[in-house]
Amino acid sequence: MKRIKITEHIIWHARRIARRKVKTVLGRCLKSNEIVHHVDFNPLNTKNSNLLVCTRAYHMRLHRKLQLLEKVKKHKDKIKRLYAEGYSGNYIAKDLKFGHRTVRKILKYLNVKIRTKGEAIKTNLKIMKVSGYYYHTDEFLIKELKRVSVLNKERPLSERMFRQISKHCSSTVRRHFGSWNNAKRIADIS
Ligand SMILES: [Zn+2]
Repeated sequence: MKRIKITEHIIWHARRIARRKVKTVLGRCLKSNEIVHHVDFNPLNTKNSNLLVCTRAYHMRLHRKLQLLEKVKKHKDKIKRLYAEGYSGNYIAKDLKFGHRTVRKILKYLNVKIRTKGEAIKTNLKIMKVSGYYYHTDEFLIKELKRVSVLNKERPLSERMFRQISKHCSSTVRRHFGSWNNAKRIADIS
């Protein structure tokens, strides 16, 4: 059997066939905002059962959802395990090179209860090394705040003083706890 090379041209033809089939079934041409989706992602499969007519907006949503489900299938065990071990959604996202909202979406999809900030602080977390960088846990930053607070006699502890004493940046602390004052309140220092 001669092997046919699948070229752009063949795919273009297949898509044309798909559109023509849809036209026969619907009794009209596709509107400009409509598109034919191939259920098995194979544009060469133009069986009726493989074709789905939808709007372009719906098609976008569909593909995004399918992408998410693909990630769920591939990574759900790792995500569940890391989250149960106490790592935050952000660390897991960095580890898997996902966007920061994706892990949260997956956890929701898997019906995993998402920890509140307070619960996350109570969880005993480690610093995690991901692709050469260290990501600090809330617990670590609280310890660091307390350490700096003891070394620094000036009150109240300012961000500038924190930066001078600690090798960590005060903006990291702010980012973790929402604000500088909030961080100090959680760490129980003035
Ligand atoms: Zn599609």
